[in-house]
Parts: sequence; structure tokens; C-alpha cells
Amino acid sequence: MNVRNCRRCGKMFNYVTGPAVCPACREAAEKKFEEVKEYIRQNKTARINEIAQNCGVEQRQIEQWIREERLIFASDSPIKIYCETCGAPIFTGRYCGNCKKNQANTFNSAGRPQGGDPAGDGGNKKPGSGNRMHTFRE
Ligand SMILES: [Zn+2]
Ligand SMILES: [Zn+2]
Repeated sequence: MNVRNCRRCGKMFNYVTGPAVCPACREAAEKKFEEVKEYIRQNKTARINEIAQNCGVEQRQIEQWIREERLIFASDSPIKIYCETCGAPIFTGRYCGNCKKNQANTFNSAGRPQGGDPAGDGGNKKPGSGNRMHTFRE
């Protein structure tokens, strides 16, 4: 059993996984989240500090929900979020669609050998990691 102190209220609880927050505080945070979501729906032009004040939530908590893509803002919201990679304006999360796609591509192609047939490629210097079947030399 893994007993920890809640990061929010300091109470001891049986820690399972995720942030070190006790079930009561977690539930309270979920309620707050619903409240914030509702507030944003009704106040599309509210700024983060207004939301924080009116809902009694820390600004940091709201920003965290944004990064987790749980809060999405309308295009006419004054809240501007920017892609952490290229700086493009986005409405939720940390990266724009393009960068997400690029990241996925980079991830997928990692470990895949570079294919293609280098037909007639003269000075083609390959690292010695490939499978050597034939070596044409004079
Ligand atoms: Zn707690
Ligand atoms: Zn981007």
C-alpha cells in the first residue's frame, strides 16, 4: 500500500496513480472543471483571470486543463494559446495540428530504414549499419 499526503489538502490517502491528490480533492477538482467548462460556454469572451476569479479556480489549474486538451476555446475567445513548437495560434492543447502530425510522422518513421533504390547514385556514402550483401569494388 502506498500512502501519501494529498498535494492539496495534506490529508493522507492511499495513492494509486496520477497526481498525488486525494479522492475527495480529485472529485472537487472535477466539479470545478465542470463549472469552468460551463462558465466558458456561457462566457465565450472571458479571459483566464476572469474565469479563475469567477469560478474560484487557480489560473494554473485552468492552464493545465488547457494543456490536457480538456478545455477548448471558441475562435472569438480572447484567450490565446500558441503551439509550443511553431507558435501558431491554437484553441487547446500544446501543439497545433501540423506539429502533432509531424511528431507522429517522426515517431512512426523512427527505426524504419530509409528505403528507395539509389540507382546511379555515384557518391552515395552509407553508414555501415546496413546489411552488406554485395560490395562492388574495383
Ligand atoms: Zn485532498
Ligand atoms: Zn505548431
